[in-house]
Amino acid sequence: MSEVSEQKIVKEEKTMQDSITYFSEEFAPGKFVSYSRFKGQNFIHIREYQNVEGRLIPTKRGASFTPGRLRVLLAKTDEIDEQLKLIASGAPCKGVQYKTHLGAGIYAAIDDKFNGVNLRRYWAPEGQATILATKNGLFLAPFQWMSMKEKLNELLAKHPELVIAETCFHQNQLGLLDCHECLPFGWMLMDMNNEM
Ligand SMILES: [Zn+2]
Repeated sequence: MSEVSEQKIVKEEKTMQDSITYFSEEFAPGKFVSYSRFKGQNFIHIREYQNVEGRLIPTKRGASFTPGRLRVLLAKTDEIDEQLKLIASGAPCKGVQYKTHLGAGIYAAIDDKFNGVNLRRYWAPEGQATILATKNGLFLAPFQWMSMKEKLNELLAKHPELVIAETCFHQNQLGLLDCHECLPFGWMLMDMNNEM
């Protein structure tokens, strides 16, 4: 084997190692729960894929979760279910939309106009005391949300390490103020970072 082709094989192997998929299950047409390792970091994706010439390509419609962030989502599923029930029951809207922070720029929001759950990334325009939704996100109708939760349970059964994944830990208040996971928009927008 020549040196050149050996180098090529080593490079290809390295690329393979950079991205490993542990779990990938479709929960609604084109929508997947997947668990993979990319550049040494584990991520859980809840994302829509596009079929391009027989190949599934990830789209921007979705959200990425670190194992810690996934635990935050799991801890809030009951609360989200309750909100969906409230809307389905036709309870009068209090004018306050349910929105909960999952980690970094990602929030779960209940959309009472379309009745469903939005898993979406937000951003803070400079100099404004508000955060705005980006296009990077996924809308799930209640039945899609239900089947997504079933897939998450399958994922946890196969990968129990995710059940005990570490959530954010800070040595002190200063550590919290510096944390991009908990306060992605900085302490000035602390209220925005938490529930609104
Ligand atoms: Zn944190």
